[in-house]
Amino acid sequence: MNKASPREEKGEPREDGRETARIGVLFPLPLPKPYDYLCAAPAPPVGAFVAAPFGPREVTGVVWPSGGDDLPPEKMKAISAVYEAPPLSRELVDFVDWTAAYTMFPKGAILRMVMRVSDALEGPRMQTAYVKGEAPEGLRLTAQRKAVLAAAGAAPASAAELAGAAGVSEAVVRGLAETGALERVEVDPDPPFEAPDLVCAGHDLSEDQRYAADMIGAVIGEGGHKAVLIDGVTGSGKTEVYFEAVAAALRRDPEAQALILLPEIALTLPFLSRVEERFGAAPAPWHSDLTGAQRRRTWRRVAEGQARLVVGARSALFLPFKKLRLIVVDEEHDNAYKQEEGVIYHARDLSVARGSLGGFPVVLASATPSLETVVNVDEGRYEAVGLSSRFADAALPDIRLIDMREDAPEAGKWLSPVLVDAVSQNLSAGEQSLLFLNRRGYAPLTLCRRCGHKMTAPGSDTMLVEHRFENRLVCHHTGFSMVKPAACPVCNAVDALAPCGPGVERVAEEAKERWPTARIAVLSSDTAPGPRSMREVLDAMREGEIDILIATQVAAKGHHFPNLTLVGVVDADLGLAGGDLRAAERTYQLLSQVTGRAGRAEKPGRALLQTYQPDAPVLAALASGDRDAFLAAEAAGRSDLGFPPYGRLAAITLKSLDEKAVEATARTLRAAAPGAEGIEVLGPARAPIYRLRGMARMRLLVKTKKTVHLQAYLADWLKKVKIPGAVRLSVDIDPYSFL
Ligand code: ADP
Repeated sequence: MNKASPREEKGEPREDGRETARIGVLFPLPLPKPYDYLCAAPAPPVGAFVAAPFGPREVTGVVWPSGGDDLPPEKMKAISAVYEAPPLSRELVDFVDWTAAYTMFPKGAILRMVMRVSDALEGPRMQTAYVKGEAPEGLRLTAQRKAVLAAAGAAPASAAELAGAAGVSEAVVRGLAETGALERVEVDPDPPFEAPDLVCAGHDLSEDQRYAADMIGAVIGEGGHKAVLIDGVTGSGKTEVYFEAVAAALRRDPEAQALILLPEIALTLPFLSRVEERFGAAPAPWHSDLTGAQRRRTWRRVAEGQARLVVGARSALFLPFKKLRLIVVDEEHDNAYKQEEGVIYHARDLSVARGSLGGFPVVLASATPSLETVVNVDEGRYEAVGLSSRFADAALPDIRLIDMREDAPEAGKWLSPVLVDAVSQNLSAGEQSLLFLNRRGYAPLTLCRRCGHKMTAPGSDTMLVEHRFENRLVCHHTGFSMVKPAACPVCNAVDALAPCGPGVERVAEEAKERWPTARIAVLSSDTAPGPRSMREVLDAMREGEIDILIATQVAAKGHHFPNLTLVGVVDADLGLAGGDLRAAERTYQLLSQVTGRAGRAEKPGRALLQTYQPDAPVLAALASGDRDAFLAAEAAGRSDLGFPPYGRLAAITLKSLDEKAVEATARTLRAAAPGAEGIEVLGPARAPIYRLRGMARMRLLVKTKKTVHLQAYLADWLKKVKIPGAVRLSVDIDPYSFL
């Protein structure tokens, strides 16, 4: 382990005359504050990684600005070592504190997100590799040895790589190294990332794009924090514009680093190639599909400041950048930025906070910005720049609603005659179609035709979704799955369990029946588990090897399919059910995005939306393309009700295996809520999914005026109530999920 200092003694006065110092150390554990320790003076700087005794163990933590306790020195312990790893930047330390205060999660839990890569601190374990050496005279060269020497060069390669290239065993490689014909070298297993080429220009920008790039360039040139929204229709070149911003930020300071956040891991892989094309070097990636070694490489190289451009999913926001100078949040409206497990946070909002603390700009990009962002622009907190047309004058798709009450599908089918005709026409024209349904599996509900029993997950009120490819019933909330039973578990009727409603697999079944010779593929996170297999389907679609793609939202975002000219939305009403406060907004965003896949190249595109409520304002707005009128209506509705972004909201969830305890605690908690001006406490009420994994769940909502310090109010309130050990409480500031 690369720890510099030898073990320090305990807290007694030092006999060697060296001064001791007192430091705070925060551990990556769910602890609210740092603990005080002694160390040899001069103390390691704030942000340095140290090892210190904590309880019975030695734990790695980080030197924190202020200690937490007032222990007298004789009671204090000393840290045991300081790591050689680069310290966390002061900006990141402040960001951890800010995030803890905002989300109401313990500081140590936030630090744990920064320290995800446990072995990165230990430095590289050097690995043996081989380069071409001096072959001694008279060396006997077998065919195998010749093949290895032909594969070897000046760039170090491992024994496995050389053996693989030459088609021989690793023993042959090692044998050659003994003779000197190959030379052994030690290499770092975490090779540095290639530097992005900041001189080489990107595409020639259109006038609009140039204006936007110059405007953001000026913000970067000024220095300091500002949030800027690039508001441009799909395909208008937002990405090209923010690439210029990245280049400008990195050129401005040779040590600067930039981060591009993307909402979906499925988008990341093709995006990495696009960055590589633009900058001549692959960026450092960060997402859940990396191997442990890839994670360590990115983490270490980011901490050293060597990796200058990172592309990642939301958790990349917690990477230990040495000098972060720009964050881009692409598709800023996307709900995938909200993390619901563990520490609950919204990566777009935290990006702006990180930029504000670090004094650097944050660029948000979207074709359908969130109402939060639009209001921030309207009220002058964010700047905005628009791109109003598609690049190269590609037209936006023509969007039409299909009223399913008048144009009903045949019984047991899901595609209306109008949509069927449109797909058939597209097939004859040799153009591609996308049928969109945001529902995985075959059928969302399995019902006994005899007794009416609905199949649910054990201990949960969640429906089991039939996945016919695997012949299983699966719960999308808990992950529970079972083989589909032959008989109803309640009334034992055989063959009575019937699928109700469609998922993508069922629509695919219908499509295969209707168009038996068409090349049809299904894409959802189940049919293509993992980003690589997803990419294969997406590549096949791009290459024109698929005629009809039936997909969930994984195909909705960011992809460019030149020959796709028809998007059919199988159930445009789906997202409107349930009615949480962002249901209409989310539907608008998702459907504009998916319809925006049509006609992105030379051929014009069209979109058909099947609906039973063609008068719903959100669908009417989609059909007329009047986004601003829709946003204005949404804003008025939320403002009337005092909902975000015009007021503040927090959700409190209580859950327990003990139903009585959870209900009693919820009532006690409610009774203890301090009354205050501008604050409304709603509930407690049973959560819409009341039972989950055997736990009963109760919810309360706190709605306040914007001027109220919500976290301070909650802290004050929660302090008053002792939550029994059997009940778990969690707070979600600005909730997006109301289940
Ligand atoms: P957005 O991010 O707004 O959806 P993109 O930046 O992905 O749009 O641009 C859409 C397509 O148009 C991409 O294939 C992109 O390479 C191309 N494009 C955009 N602007 C230019 C330009 N100035 N020159 C050449 N191609 C461009």
